[in-house]
Amino acid sequence: MSENPNKQYDILIAGAGFAGSITALILNNLGFKVCLIEKGQHPRFAIGESSTPVADLILRDLATKYNLPWLYDFSRYGSWQQSHPEIVCGIKRGFSYYKHYPGKAFATDENHKNELLVAASSDDIQSDTNWLRADFDAFLVNKVKDYGINYFDQTEIIKAERNADWEFQIDHFNESTNIHASFFIDATGSGKLLNKILGIESSSEEFLTNSVSIFSHFNQVPKWLEMLQKENIPTDDYPYNPDNSALHQILDEGWIWMLRFKDDRLSFGFVLDDTNTFYENLPTDKIWNDLLEKYPSVNCILKDSKLATVPGKILRSERLQRKMKQCFGAGWVALPHTVGFVDPLFSSGIAHSLSGIEKVICCIRKNWGNEALLEKDFKAYENAVFGELKITDNLVAGCYKTMPYFDLFNAWSMLYFAATIAHEQRRIKLEPPGYFLNADDQEICTMVETSYTDLLKLIENKQPTEEDIKWFTGLIKERIQPYNIAGLLEPSSKNMYLHTVAKI
Ligand SMILES: Cc1cc2nc3c(=O)[nH]c(=O)nc-3n(C[C@H](O)[C@H](O)[C@H](O)COP(=O)(O)OP(=O)(O)OC[C@H]3O[C@@H](n4cnc5c(N)ncnc54)[C@H](O)[C@@H]3O)c2cc1C
Repeated sequence: MSENPNKQYDILIAGAGFAGSITALILNNLGFKVCLIEKGQHPRFAIGESSTPVADLILRDLATKYNLPWLYDFSRYGSWQQSHPEIVCGIKRGFSYYKHYPGKAFATDENHKNELLVAASSDDIQSDTNWLRADFDAFLVNKVKDYGINYFDQTEIIKAERNADWEFQIDHFNESTNIHASFFIDATGSGKLLNKILGIESSSEEFLTNSVSIFSHFNQVPKWLEMLQKENIPTDDYPYNPDNSALHQILDEGWIWMLRFKDDRLSFGFVLDDTNTFYENLPTDKIWNDLLEKYPSVNCILKDSKLATVPGKILRSERLQRKMKQCFGAGWVALPHTVGFVDPLFSSGIAHSLSGIEKVICCIRKNWGNEALLEKDFKAYENAVFGELKITDNLVAGCYKTMPYFDLFNAWSMLYFAATIAHEQRRIKLEPPGYFLNADDQEICTMVETSYTDLLKLIENKQPTEEDIKWFTGLIKERIQPYNIAGLLEPSSKNMYLHTVAKI
């Protein structure tokens, strides 16, 4: 891009992930003069690939409300394939979980005691998707350019100063220049930029969850369903093919995500409980190889695979949990993934980002030109994002505690499905969406918090007995009853749930 970015804009957005690009496209359609900058260059590898029914509901809403009709097609696998088969994605029919025990090949029984499959759609056409982010994010940035929005890659903010307006000193292709804008949106997906330019700190202190991730993309990974069938594991009553889902292998110390794309690429990552900072000082290769050795069926999954050309190596995260001290300030706001993150279990990131975009756009549209009102609404946005991170943390932390005991994990995870069903129902009924995961619903928050306390009592310093687990499962079943339109925890379902997004 040879054009000089040195101009006056209404809004500067930093970070051209899907969130930054969609925000730029919406604001442009609302008549704002927008500039989007990206420190890297598309196409680029990115993680965070598995969408959900809530993400898709919001995508459809944003597409309709802000006149981006082509965006609508990406909210279902069928319409995505019809409109843009060249942009790689995968079918995601639901959430699947398989429990592995150290030293043993995966085994289960006809009641699926070590499996849990929760369908989120009725067929492949209506299905959610796994987004190949390199493709999808590059497509969105091209749309940004098509709409005539000023887009500058390989561009970073060095310094920012706000008087009447913002003056950003930026490094653009290794040359220093200035951008002037009335407002700034941080969509960079981490707190680092705001820390650098405004001194806004992030911390992990408040989180119950403590996890790290090691991941990459692979080719030539056998299909999990075929592996199960080879072992004569009954799969006839599965609600969908687990390879077409967010497939999770549950270990004692964490879990694995397996997200398949239609070109047979597989996103594979370990997410490990690091409460005792066990992994902090271990080399990545050692962690990876030790886990493969410990779990024979996981080793079988990867043994003949090849690292995909991109990223071409195994990547490692720092501790995943982080939260900025504030979401907004005078003349700026940050999108949810910049504000904070908990853990990819339950694939809540994309939906959280989209629900943040929805709120931020509303605030700006309603209050542009009135800083006091804008900040009042951003305060409400901040409360929402912080509340959403808190409930996600509670739900995910309980999962890590229960991973060694699959029946308990199964019961605990139903709290997430109850919260998400409640939220989907609000949206399907066209009620005001409130907070993501209904984190503004006091009954849901209390249900999750009380259950967490009960769980800790149950497993503190001891292995839960079968009786303990039965009692806890009954307790959760009773607590989720007001939201349970999907027959969750009904013994007759044998851990196979046909469809949690109920139609009304
Ligand atoms: C290990 C892991 C697994 C995940 N799995 C899932 C999942 O399965 N499903 C799900 O829903 N969510 C998942 N997430 C969350 C998901 O990654 C995020 O919700 C999503 O990427 C947010 O998108 P974004 O556009 O806000 O940010 P990003 O995707 O992080 O994009 C930010 C962009 O900003 C650019 N940038 C960074 N710094 C600067 C700067 N200083 N100046 C300019 N540009 C900058 C980056 O290059 C990047 O292009 C996962 C997260 C992690 C860590």
